[in-house]
Amino acid sequence: MKFSPEKLSIPDQRMKQFIDPEEIWNLIKNTKPDKKRVRDVIAKSLDKQRLTLEETAVLINSLGAGLADEIKQGARELKEKVYGNRIVLFAPLYIGNRCINNCQYCGFRVTNAEAIRKTLSDDEIVKEVEALEDNGQKRLVLVYGEHPDYSPEYIAHTVKIVYGVKKGHGEIRRVNINAAPLDIEGFRIVGESGIGTYQIFQETYHPEAYKWYHLGGKKRDYEYRLTALDRAQEAGIDDVGIGALFGLYDWRFEVMGLVRHANHLEACYNVGPHTISFPRIKDALSLNIDQKYQTGDEDFKKLVAILRLAVPYTGLILTARESPDVRREAMQYGVSQIDGGTKLELGSYSDTKNEKQNLNREQFKINDARSLAEVIDELLENDYLPSFCTSCYRMGRTGEHFMEFSVPGFIKRFCTPNAILTLSEYICDYAQGETVGKGWKAIEKNLEKLDAGVAQTTKEKIERIKLGERDLYF
Ligand code: SAM
Ligand code: SF4
Repeated sequence: MKFSPEKLSIPDQRMKQFIDPEEIWNLIKNTKPDKKRVRDVIAKSLDKQRLTLEETAVLINSLGAGLADEIKQGARELKEKVYGNRIVLFAPLYIGNRCINNCQYCGFRVTNAEAIRKTLSDDEIVKEVEALEDNGQKRLVLVYGEHPDYSPEYIAHTVKIVYGVKKGHGEIRRVNINAAPLDIEGFRIVGESGIGTYQIFQETYHPEAYKWYHLGGKKRDYEYRLTALDRAQEAGIDDVGIGALFGLYDWRFEVMGLVRHANHLEACYNVGPHTISFPRIKDALSLNIDQKYQTGDEDFKKLVAILRLAVPYTGLILTARESPDVRREAMQYGVSQIDGGTKLELGSYSDTKNEKQNLNREQFKINDARSLAEVIDELLENDYLPSFCTSCYRMGRTGEHFMEFSVPGFIKRFCTPNAILTLSEYICDYAQGETVGKGWKAIEKNLEKLDAGVAQTTKEKIERIKLGERDLYF
Protein backbone atom coordinates (compact mmCIF):
# COMPACT_ATOMS: atom_id res chain seq x y z
CA MET A 1 0.00 0.00 0.00
CA LYS A 2 1.42 3.38 -1.00
CA PHE A 3 1.57 6.39 1.25
CA SER A 4 -1.22 8.92 0.67
CA PRO A 5 -0.54 12.16 2.55
CA GLU A 6 -3.95 13.64 1.64
CA LYS A 7 -5.70 10.89 3.55
CA LEU A 8 -3.55 11.26 6.61
CA SER A 9 -3.24 15.06 6.40
CA ILE A 10 0.43 14.95 7.30
CA PRO A 11 3.24 16.51 5.26
CA ASP A 12 4.45 14.39 2.38
CA GLN A 13 8.06 13.55 3.25
CA ARG A 14 8.73 11.38 0.24
CA MET A 15 12.02 12.12 -1.51
CA LYS A 16 12.82 14.85 1.00
CA GLN A 17 16.04 15.23 2.99
CA PHE A 18 15.23 13.69 6.35
CA ILE A 19 18.48 13.94 8.30
CA ASP A 20 18.83 16.82 10.73
CA PRO A 21 22.38 16.65 12.15
CA GLU A 22 21.54 19.10 14.91
CA GLU A 23 18.59 17.03 16.07
CA ILE A 24 20.71 13.88 16.09
CA TRP A 25 23.60 15.50 17.95
CA ASN A 26 21.23 17.06 20.48
CA LEU A 27 19.79 13.65 21.22
CA ILE A 28 23.22 12.05 21.53
CA LYS A 29 24.54 14.82 23.77
CA ASN A 30 21.52 15.43 25.93
CA THR A 31 20.06 12.00 26.57
CA LYS A 32 21.12 10.96 30.03
CA PRO A 33 20.21 7.37 30.58
CA ASP A 34 19.93 5.71 33.94
CA LYS A 35 19.72 2.00 34.53
CA LYS A 36 15.95 1.98 34.73
CA ARG A 37 15.52 3.90 31.50
CA VAL A 38 17.87 1.57 29.63
CA ARG A 39 16.01 -1.44 30.95
CA ASP A 40 12.66 0.08 29.96
CA VAL A 41 13.92 0.68 26.44
CA ILE A 42 15.22 -2.88 26.13
CA ALA A 43 11.89 -4.16 27.47
CA LYS A 44 10.02 -2.09 24.86
CA SER A 45 12.05 -3.69 22.12
CA LEU A 46 11.52 -7.18 23.54
CA ASP A 47 7.83 -6.32 23.50
CA LYS A 48 8.23 -6.11 19.72
CA GLN A 49 8.09 -2.35 19.37
CA ARG A 50 10.41 -0.30 17.23
CA LEU A 51 12.43 2.31 19.12
CA THR A 52 12.32 6.07 18.63
CA LEU A 53 15.46 8.09 17.91
CA GLU A 54 15.50 9.29 21.50
CA GLU A 55 15.30 5.71 22.80
CA THR A 56 18.09 4.69 20.45
CA ALA A 57 20.18 7.50 21.95
CA VAL A 58 19.45 6.08 25.41
CA LEU A 59 21.06 2.79 24.35
CA ILE A 60 23.96 4.52 22.61
CA ASN A 61 24.77 6.53 25.72
CA SER A 62 24.49 3.70 28.20
CA LEU A 63 28.14 2.86 28.50
CA GLY A 64 28.60 2.40 32.23
CA ALA A 65 27.90 -0.21 34.86
CA GLY A 66 27.42 -3.31 32.80
CA LEU A 67 24.69 -1.68 30.71
CA ALA A 68 26.43 -2.55 27.45
CA ASP A 69 26.18 -6.18 28.54
CA GLU A 70 22.49 -5.79 29.23
CA ILE A 71 22.00 -4.35 25.74
CA LYS A 72 23.86 -7.25 24.19
CA GLN A 73 21.87 -9.67 26.30
CA GLY A 74 18.62 -7.98 25.23
CA ALA A 75 19.62 -8.26 21.57
CA ARG A 76 20.53 -11.92 22.03
CA GLU A 77 17.21 -12.61 23.67
CA LEU A 78 15.28 -10.83 20.94
CA LYS A 79 17.09 -12.81 18.29
CA GLU A 80 16.59 -16.12 20.02
CA LYS A 81 12.95 -15.57 20.92
CA VAL A 82 11.81 -13.99 17.72
CA TYR A 83 14.04 -15.22 14.91
CA GLY A 84 15.51 -18.42 16.25
CA ASN A 85 18.77 -19.80 14.96
CA ARG A 86 18.58 -19.39 11.20
CA ILE A 87 21.36 -17.63 9.29
CA VAL A 88 20.81 -16.89 5.63
CA LEU A 89 23.85 -17.23 3.36
CA PHE A 90 24.81 -15.31 0.25
CA ALA A 91 27.86 -14.27 -1.77
CA PRO A 92 28.82 -11.03 -3.52
CA LEU A 93 29.63 -11.11 -7.21
CA TYR A 94 31.57 -8.10 -8.49
CA ILE A 95 30.52 -7.39 -12.08
CA GLY A 96 32.67 -4.36 -12.82
CA ASN A 97 35.00 -1.93 -11.06
CA ARG A 98 34.93 1.01 -13.43
CA CYS A 99 33.99 4.09 -11.50
CA ILE A 100 33.62 7.83 -12.08
CA ASN A 101 33.54 8.69 -8.39
CA ASN A 102 36.31 9.60 -6.03
CA CYS A 103 35.38 8.06 -2.67
CA GLN A 104 38.42 8.38 -0.42
CA TYR A 105 37.92 4.93 1.14
CA CYS A 106 37.47 2.83 -1.95
CA GLY A 107 40.01 1.02 -4.13
CA PHE A 108 37.78 1.53 -7.18
CA ARG A 109 37.90 5.34 -7.00
CA VAL A 110 38.63 7.06 -10.28
CA THR A 111 41.95 8.53 -9.08
CA ASN A 112 43.39 5.14 -8.14
CA ALA A 113 45.66 4.63 -11.13
CA GLU A 114 46.92 1.31 -9.78
CA ALA A 115 43.50 -0.34 -9.93
CA ILE A 116 43.19 -2.79 -12.78
CA ARG A 117 39.83 -2.01 -14.35
CA LYS A 118 37.60 -4.76 -15.54
CA THR A 119 34.01 -5.51 -16.39
CA LEU A 120 33.13 -9.16 -16.69
CA SER A 121 32.01 -10.20 -20.15
CA ASP A 122 28.71 -12.09 -20.40
CA ASP A 123 30.65 -15.34 -20.73
CA GLU A 124 32.74 -14.51 -17.69
CA ILE A 125 29.59 -13.81 -15.67
CA VAL A 126 28.31 -17.26 -16.64
CA LYS A 127 31.60 -18.87 -15.56
CA GLU A 128 31.55 -17.04 -12.24
CA VAL A 129 27.96 -18.02 -11.54
CA GLU A 130 28.68 -21.65 -12.44
CA ALA A 131 31.58 -21.65 -9.98
CA LEU A 132 29.36 -20.11 -7.29
CA GLU A 133 26.64 -22.67 -7.98
CA ASP A 134 29.24 -25.45 -7.74
CA ASN A 135 29.87 -24.29 -4.18
CA GLY A 136 26.18 -24.38 -3.34
CA GLN A 137 25.31 -20.69 -3.48
CA LYS A 138 21.69 -19.77 -4.18
CA ARG A 139 21.64 -16.06 -3.36
CA LEU A 140 23.96 -13.41 -4.80
CA VAL A 141 24.43 -9.70 -4.51
CA LEU A 142 25.79 -8.22 -7.73
CA VAL A 143 28.13 -5.30 -7.16
CA TYR A 144 29.05 -2.54 -9.63
CA GLY A 145 31.12 0.65 -9.59
CA GLU A 146 29.36 3.79 -10.78
CA HIS A 147 30.00 4.28 -14.47
CA PRO A 148 28.00 5.09 -17.61
CA ASP A 149 28.77 1.51 -18.75
CA TYR A 150 26.65 0.23 -15.88
CA SER A 151 23.35 1.63 -17.07
CA PRO A 152 20.02 0.32 -15.74
CA GLU A 153 19.66 -1.67 -18.95
CA TYR A 154 23.09 -3.21 -18.45
CA ILE A 155 22.39 -4.06 -14.82
CA ALA A 156 19.09 -5.68 -15.83
CA HIS A 157 20.92 -7.59 -18.56
CA THR A 158 23.43 -9.01 -16.07
CA VAL A 159 20.64 -9.98 -13.64
CA LYS A 160 18.95 -11.97 -16.39
CA ILE A 161 22.22 -13.71 -17.28
CA VAL A 162 22.69 -14.76 -13.65
CA TYR A 163 19.16 -16.17 -13.34
CA GLY A 164 19.69 -18.09 -16.57
CA VAL A 165 22.75 -20.04 -15.39
CA LYS A 166 21.86 -23.58 -14.28
CA LYS A 167 24.58 -26.08 -13.60
CA GLY A 168 23.70 -29.53 -12.30
CA HIS A 169 21.27 -28.89 -9.48
CA GLY A 170 22.69 -25.39 -9.17
CA GLU A 171 20.77 -22.20 -9.79
CA ILE A 172 20.66 -18.70 -8.37
CA ARG A 173 17.23 -18.01 -6.93
CA ARG A 174 17.66 -14.50 -5.66
CA VAL A 175 19.77 -11.72 -7.14
CA ASN A 176 20.24 -8.61 -5.03
CA ILE A 177 21.96 -5.48 -6.26
CA ASN A 178 24.50 -3.09 -4.77
CA ALA A 179 24.99 -0.30 -7.26
CA ALA A 180 24.74 3.42 -7.73
CA PRO A 181 21.52 5.35 -7.11
CA LEU A 182 19.28 5.61 -10.16
CA ASP A 183 16.40 7.79 -11.22
CA ILE A 184 12.87 6.40 -10.98
CA GLU A 185 12.87 5.12 -14.54
CA GLY A 186 16.25 3.44 -13.99
CA PHE A 187 15.02 1.69 -10.88
CA ARG A 188 11.94 0.54 -12.79
CA ILE A 189 14.12 -1.04 -15.49
CA VAL A 190 16.28 -2.86 -12.95
CA GLY A 191 13.24 -3.83 -10.85
CA GLU A 192 11.59 -5.46 -13.83
CA SER A 193 14.52 -7.84 -14.24
CA GLY A 194 13.33 -9.60 -11.08
CA ILE A 195 15.79 -8.47 -8.44
CA GLY A 196 15.42 -9.15 -4.74
CA THR A 197 16.85 -6.24 -2.73
CA TYR A 198 18.40 -3.02 -4.08
CA GLN A 199 21.04 -1.92 -1.58
CA ILE A 200 22.55 1.54 -1.39
CA PHE A 201 24.70 2.54 1.56
CA GLN A 202 24.68 6.20 2.55
CA GLU A 203 28.28 5.72 3.75
CA THR A 204 27.95 8.57 6.27
CA TYR A 205 24.69 10.25 7.21
CA HIS A 206 26.54 13.40 8.26
CA PRO A 207 26.28 15.89 5.36
CA GLU A 208 29.55 17.71 6.15
CA ALA A 209 31.53 14.51 6.64
CA TYR A 210 29.98 13.18 3.43
CA LYS A 211 31.60 16.09 1.59
CA TRP A 212 35.04 15.31 3.01
CA TYR A 213 35.10 11.84 1.52
CA HIS A 214 33.28 12.19 -1.78
CA LEU A 215 35.50 14.41 -3.87
CA GLY A 216 34.26 13.85 -7.36
CA GLY A 217 31.65 12.32 -9.60
CA LYS A 218 27.93 11.93 -9.11
CA LYS A 219 28.30 10.52 -5.65
CA ARG A 220 29.19 13.96 -4.31
CA ASP A 221 25.49 14.74 -4.13
CA TYR A 222 24.48 13.77 -0.59
CA GLU A 223 20.78 14.35 -1.09
CA TYR A 224 20.53 12.43 -4.34
CA ARG A 225 22.01 9.43 -2.55
CA LEU A 226 19.94 9.89 0.61
CA THR A 227 16.68 9.89 -1.33
CA ALA A 228 17.70 7.10 -3.72
CA LEU A 229 15.68 4.40 -2.04
CA ASP A 230 12.63 6.65 -2.04
CA ARG A 231 12.95 6.68 -5.82
CA ALA A 232 13.34 2.91 -5.77
CA GLN A 233 10.09 2.67 -3.81
CA GLU A 234 8.36 5.02 -6.24
CA ALA A 235 9.55 2.73 -9.02
CA GLY A 236 7.95 -0.28 -7.34
CA ILE A 237 11.04 -1.77 -5.65
CA ASP A 238 9.75 -2.21 -2.13
CA ASP A 239 12.64 -4.35 -1.00
CA VAL A 240 15.53 -2.02 -0.26
CA GLY A 241 18.68 -2.21 1.84
CA ILE A 242 20.32 0.66 3.68
CA GLY A 243 23.78 0.86 5.22
CA ALA A 244 26.50 3.07 6.66
CA LEU A 245 30.25 2.65 6.30
CA PHE A 246 31.56 2.76 9.84
CA GLY A 247 34.82 4.64 10.28
CA LEU A 248 33.95 7.76 8.30
CA TYR A 249 32.27 9.63 11.12
CA ASP A 250 31.16 9.09 14.74
CA TRP A 251 29.56 5.64 14.96
CA ARG A 252 26.84 6.95 17.26
CA PHE A 253 25.70 9.44 14.63
CA GLU A 254 25.62 6.73 11.96
CA VAL A 255 23.46 4.43 14.10
CA MET A 256 21.02 7.30 14.60
CA GLY A 257 21.13 8.02 10.85
CA LEU A 258 20.29 4.41 10.03
CA VAL A 259 17.38 4.37 12.46
CA ARG A 260 16.12 7.68 11.07
CA HIS A 261 16.37 6.32 7.54
CA ALA A 262 14.43 3.19 8.53
CA ASN A 263 11.75 5.34 10.17
CA HIS A 264 11.54 7.59 7.12
CA LEU A 265 10.97 4.69 4.74
CA GLU A 266 8.40 3.18 7.02
CA ALA A 267 6.54 6.46 7.45
CA CYS A 268 6.49 7.19 3.73
CA TYR A 269 6.02 3.75 2.22
CA ASN A 270 4.59 1.64 5.03
CA VAL A 271 7.57 -0.65 4.74
CA GLY A 272 10.94 -0.21 6.41
CA PRO A 273 14.20 -1.32 4.83
CA HIS A 274 14.53 -5.03 4.19
CA THR A 275 18.09 -5.06 5.48
CA ILE A 276 20.64 -2.90 7.20
CA SER A 277 24.37 -3.28 6.51
CA PHE A 278 27.07 -1.88 8.76
CA PRO A 279 30.40 -2.41 7.02
CA ARG A 280 33.55 -1.12 8.69
CA ILE A 281 36.27 0.39 6.52
CA LYS A 282 38.91 -2.12 5.53
CA ASP A 283 42.24 -1.70 3.92
CA ALA A 284 42.09 -0.64 0.28
CA LEU A 285 44.53 0.64 -2.26
CA SER A 286 45.01 4.41 -1.89
CA LEU A 287 42.83 4.52 1.21
CA ASN A 288 42.73 8.11 2.39
CA ILE A 289 41.00 8.03 5.73
CA ASP A 290 41.79 9.57 9.07
CA GLN A 291 41.84 6.95 11.83
CA LYS A 292 39.93 9.32 14.13
CA TYR A 293 36.56 7.70 13.59
CA GLN A 294 37.69 4.11 13.35
CA THR A 295 35.08 1.97 15.11
CA GLY A 296 36.70 -0.46 17.55
CA ASP A 297 35.53 -4.04 18.02
CA GLU A 298 33.69 -3.34 21.26
CA ASP A 299 31.76 -0.37 19.86
CA PHE A 300 31.08 -2.41 16.75
CA LYS A 301 29.52 -5.30 18.67
CA LYS A 302 27.51 -2.89 20.74
CA LEU A 303 26.21 -1.06 17.71
CA VAL A 304 25.04 -4.33 16.17
CA ALA A 305 23.09 -5.06 19.36
CA ILE A 306 21.63 -1.53 19.41
CA LEU A 307 20.49 -1.81 15.81
CA ARG A 308 18.87 -5.16 16.55
CA LEU A 309 16.88 -3.61 19.39
CA ALA A 310 16.08 -0.35 17.56
CA VAL A 311 14.69 -1.91 14.37
CA PRO A 312 13.64 -5.35 15.53
CA TYR A 313 12.02 -6.40 12.27
CA THR A 314 14.78 -5.56 9.81
CA GLY A 315 17.35 -8.06 8.57
CA LEU A 316 20.93 -7.36 9.62
CA ILE A 317 23.80 -8.23 7.26
CA LEU A 318 27.33 -8.92 8.50
CA THR A 319 29.95 -9.42 5.83
CA ALA A 320 33.36 -11.05 5.43
CA ARG A 321 34.95 -7.64 5.93
CA GLU A 322 34.99 -8.82 9.55
CA SER A 323 37.18 -11.58 10.95
CA PRO A 324 35.67 -14.96 11.89
CA ASP A 325 36.03 -14.03 15.58
CA VAL A 326 34.16 -10.77 15.29
CA ARG A 327 31.54 -12.44 13.11
CA ARG A 328 31.09 -15.26 15.60
CA GLU A 329 30.33 -12.86 18.42
CA ALA A 330 28.37 -10.20 16.55
CA MET A 331 26.15 -12.88 15.03
CA GLN A 332 24.66 -13.64 18.41
CA TYR A 333 23.26 -10.14 18.66
CA GLY A 334 20.78 -10.50 15.90
CA VAL A 335 22.52 -10.81 12.55
CA SER A 336 20.32 -12.62 10.06
CA GLN A 337 22.49 -12.82 6.93
CA ILE A 338 26.18 -13.43 6.30
CA ASP A 339 28.25 -14.10 3.21
CA GLY A 340 30.36 -17.23 2.85
CA GLY A 341 33.12 -18.15 0.42
CA THR A 342 33.47 -14.49 -0.53
CA LYS A 343 35.96 -13.33 -3.15
CA LEU A 344 36.12 -9.76 -4.29
CA GLU A 345 38.53 -9.93 -7.18
CA LEU A 346 36.74 -9.75 -10.48
CA GLY A 347 36.62 -13.19 -12.05
CA SER A 348 38.14 -14.98 -9.06
CA TYR A 349 35.38 -17.46 -8.28
CA SER A 350 36.12 -19.36 -11.47
CA ASP A 351 39.87 -18.75 -11.37
CA THR A 352 40.84 -21.39 -8.82
CA LYS A 353 44.59 -20.98 -9.46
CA ASN A 354 44.51 -17.50 -8.05
CA GLU A 355 43.61 -17.76 -4.37
CA LYS A 356 45.51 -14.76 -3.01
CA GLN A 357 43.88 -11.42 -2.32
CA ASN A 358 45.18 -8.78 -4.69
CA LEU A 359 44.34 -5.20 -3.82
CA ASN A 360 44.97 -3.97 -7.38
CA ARG A 361 41.89 -5.82 -8.39
CA GLU A 362 39.78 -5.60 -5.27
CA GLN A 363 37.71 -2.93 -3.67
CA PHE A 364 39.08 -3.63 -0.20
CA LYS A 365 40.60 -6.44 1.83
CA ILE A 366 38.33 -9.01 3.46
CA ASN A 367 39.10 -10.67 6.79
CA ASP A 368 37.12 -13.87 6.48
CA ALA A 369 38.33 -15.74 3.42
CA ARG A 370 36.87 -19.11 4.47
CA SER A 371 35.04 -21.19 1.90
CA LEU A 372 31.25 -21.53 2.02
CA ALA A 373 31.74 -25.14 3.16
CA GLU A 374 33.85 -24.01 6.12
CA VAL A 375 31.39 -21.30 7.09
CA ILE A 376 28.48 -23.73 6.96
CA ASP A 377 30.37 -26.32 8.97
CA GLU A 378 31.04 -23.79 11.69
CA LEU A 379 27.44 -22.57 11.72
CA LEU A 380 26.26 -26.14 12.24
CA GLU A 381 28.88 -26.69 14.91
CA ASN A 382 27.54 -23.62 16.75
CA ASP A 383 23.92 -24.71 16.54
CA TYR A 384 22.84 -22.30 13.82
CA LEU A 385 20.61 -23.43 10.99
CA PRO A 386 22.16 -22.33 7.66
CA SER A 387 19.51 -21.30 5.15
CA PHE A 388 19.43 -20.54 1.43
CA CYS A 389 15.73 -19.79 1.51
CA THR A 390 14.34 -17.52 -1.20
CA SER A 391 10.73 -18.46 -0.71
CA CYS A 392 9.06 -15.24 0.48
CA TYR A 393 10.38 -13.15 -2.34
CA ARG A 394 9.29 -15.73 -4.93
CA MET A 395 5.88 -16.19 -3.30
CA GLY A 396 5.32 -12.42 -3.29
CA ARG A 397 5.49 -12.33 0.50
CA THR A 398 7.32 -9.01 0.69
CA GLY A 399 8.10 -7.58 4.09
CA GLU A 400 9.10 -11.05 5.23
CA HIS A 401 11.16 -9.84 8.18
CA PHE A 402 8.15 -7.95 9.42
CA MET A 403 6.02 -11.08 9.08
CA GLU A 404 8.60 -13.21 10.83
CA PHE A 405 8.46 -10.72 13.61
CA SER A 406 4.79 -9.99 13.88
CA VAL A 407 2.79 -12.91 12.48
CA PRO A 408 2.47 -15.58 15.17
CA GLY A 409 3.87 -18.91 14.03
CA PHE A 410 5.28 -17.50 10.77
CA ILE A 411 8.80 -18.77 11.44
CA LYS A 412 7.61 -22.26 12.36
CA ARG A 413 5.35 -22.43 9.32
CA PHE A 414 7.68 -20.99 6.71
CA CYS A 415 11.19 -19.97 7.73
CA THR A 416 12.41 -23.03 9.62
CA PRO A 417 10.93 -25.58 7.17
CA ASN A 418 12.37 -23.66 4.21
CA ALA A 419 15.75 -23.42 5.91
CA ILE A 420 15.61 -27.19 6.50
CA LEU A 421 14.71 -27.88 2.87
CA THR A 422 17.44 -25.67 1.43
CA LEU A 423 19.96 -27.17 3.85
CA SER A 424 18.84 -30.66 2.75
CA GLU A 425 19.56 -29.69 -0.85
CA TYR A 426 22.95 -28.35 0.16
CA ILE A 427 23.82 -31.58 1.97
CA CYS A 428 22.71 -33.77 -0.93
CA ASP A 429 24.48 -31.72 -3.60
CA TYR A 430 27.54 -30.06 -2.09
CA ALA A 431 28.40 -31.01 1.50
CA GLN A 432 31.40 -33.20 2.16
CA GLY A 433 32.99 -35.06 5.04
CA GLU A 434 31.68 -34.47 8.54
CA THR A 435 29.44 -31.62 7.44
CA VAL A 436 27.01 -34.18 6.02
CA GLY A 437 26.38 -35.82 9.41
CA LYS A 438 26.29 -32.49 11.22
CA GLY A 439 23.80 -31.19 8.70
CA TRP A 440 21.33 -34.08 9.01
CA LYS A 441 21.61 -33.92 12.78
CA ALA A 442 20.78 -30.20 12.74
CA ILE A 443 17.81 -30.94 10.50
CA GLU A 444 16.50 -33.59 12.89
CA LYS A 445 16.85 -31.23 15.82
CA ASN A 446 15.10 -28.37 14.05
CA LEU A 447 12.28 -30.60 12.79
CA GLU A 448 11.41 -31.20 16.44
CA LYS A 449 10.66 -27.51 16.85
CA LEU A 450 7.90 -27.63 14.23
CA ASP A 451 4.24 -28.46 14.71
CA ALA A 452 3.51 -32.09 13.87
CA GLY A 453 1.72 -31.41 10.58
CA VAL A 454 4.39 -29.08 9.20
CA ALA A 455 7.15 -31.43 10.40
CA GLN A 456 5.49 -34.32 8.54
CA THR A 457 5.14 -32.36 5.28
CA THR A 458 8.72 -31.16 5.61
CA LYS A 459 9.96 -34.73 6.09
CA GLU A 460 8.07 -35.82 2.98
CA LYS A 461 9.67 -33.01 1.01
CA ILE A 462 13.12 -34.02 2.31
CA GLU A 463 12.50 -37.54 0.98
CA ARG A 464 11.62 -36.07 -2.41
CA ILE A 465 14.84 -34.01 -2.33
CA LYS A 466 16.80 -37.17 -1.59
CA LEU A 467 15.20 -38.69 -4.69
CA GLY A 468 16.39 -35.77 -6.82
CA GLU A 469 13.63 -33.15 -6.75
CA ARG A 470 14.76 -29.58 -6.06
CA ASP A 471 13.39 -26.19 -5.11
CA LEU A 472 10.61 -27.39 -2.82
CA TYR A 473 9.37 -24.74 -0.45
CA PHE A 474 6.50 -23.46 1.64
N1 SAM B 1 29.59 1.77 -6.38
C1 SAM B 1 28.39 1.61 -5.65
C2 SAM B 1 28.32 2.53 -4.47
O1 SAM B 1 29.31 3.18 -4.14
O2 SAM B 1 27.27 2.56 -3.87
C3 SAM B 1 28.15 0.23 -5.15
C4 SAM B 1 29.21 -0.67 -4.83
S1 SAM B 1 30.39 -0.25 -3.59
C5 SAM B 1 31.48 -1.20 -4.48
C6 SAM B 1 29.71 -1.10 -2.16
C7 SAM B 1 30.03 -0.57 -0.81
O3 SAM B 1 31.34 -0.96 -0.40
C8 SAM B 1 30.07 0.91 -0.65
O4 SAM B 1 28.78 1.43 -0.53
C9 SAM B 1 30.89 1.10 0.61
O5 SAM B 1 30.07 1.20 1.76
C10 SAM B 1 31.70 -0.19 0.71
N2 SAM B 1 33.14 0.08 0.73
C11 SAM B 1 33.84 0.88 -0.10
N3 SAM B 1 35.13 0.92 0.26
C12 SAM B 1 35.27 0.13 1.35
C13 SAM B 1 36.38 -0.23 2.21
N4 SAM B 1 37.59 0.25 2.01
N5 SAM B 1 36.15 -1.07 3.23
C14 SAM B 1 34.92 -1.56 3.45
N6 SAM B 1 33.84 -1.26 2.68
C15 SAM B 1 34.01 -0.42 1.64
FE1 SF4 C 1 33.00 3.94 -6.91
FE2 SF4 C 1 31.31 2.85 -5.13
FE3 SF4 C 1 33.94 2.74 -4.78
FE4 SF4 C 1 32.74 5.03 -4.51
S1 SF4 C 1 32.39 3.20 -3.24
S2 SF4 C 1 34.65 4.71 -5.65
S3 SF4 C 1 31.16 4.87 -6.04
S4 SF4 C 1 32.77 1.77 -6.39
